[in-house]
Amino acid sequence: MDRARERGGQGLNADSQPVRSLGVLGGTFDPVHHGHLRLAIECREVLGLSEVCLLPARLPNLRDEPGASASDRLAMLYAAVQGTALRVDDRELAGNGITYTVETLAALRREEPHTAICFILGQDAFNGLPRWHRWQELLGFAHLVVATRPGYAPPQDEALQDLLARAEVQEVDALKTRLSGHILMQSIPLLPISATDLRARVRAGRCLAALTPPAVAEYIEQHRLYR
Ligand code: ATP
Repeated sequence: MDRARERGGQGLNADSQPVRSLGVLGGTFDPVHHGHLRLAIECREVLGLSEVCLLPARLPNLRDEPGASASDRLAMLYAAVQGTALRVDDRELAGNGITYTVETLAALRREEPHTAICFILGQDAFNGLPRWHRWQELLGFAHLVVATRPGYAPPQDEALQDLLARAEVQEVDALKTRLSGHILMQSIPLLPISATDLRARVRAGRCLAALTPPAVAEYIEQHRLYR
């Protein structure tokens, strides 16, 4: 039995099901938009998760410096989740310097030994997984749920293909039989919105209505972000 499987066997209730299930959507959220919120909400409903949190990263080590400060991105996230069932986990912004997803998931696993943790990511993010720090260890702490478009192309990277061959499951219910270790490629309707596009719209003086919640658009306007 491999290490991920050993960990995944702990914390199941009498019906061999995890006590709780938590979805975690990591990202830069620079700024948060309806694409992120819909992804989190769809996952919560489709996967039947107890809770979903948005986990903003302090310094995205794989990309350029964010356009807004950590505190502005966090303020926009808190504004965006108002009135939704989503939660914000600000632990990565509370520390200094780079925080790696694998370390955050390891910490969550220690805090929640009986919870099935589903780390949610879009397929663009999944295709870049081999560049993440200690990416091969992620499945020891969480399941991966990859939001795909219908008819998506499988990843080209051989290491990712190997990982999928070992860990992919086809059914949502499979995520409830273990605490971690599975990958689900889940077809989810994705809104064609990106933070890059929002920042470009702000620079061009265009309106953000219906791309992000009004409170986020107002915050960007009031604090003159992304100009
Ligand atoms: P940028 O345009 O600056 O790269 P982004 O809009 O892709 O930003 P991120 O914070 O990088 O936002 O994304 C966090 C997560 O949300 C990633 O897993 C990404 O795949 C996913 N995501 C981003 N936009 C969408 C969208 N429109 N629909 C579904 N998922 C999305």
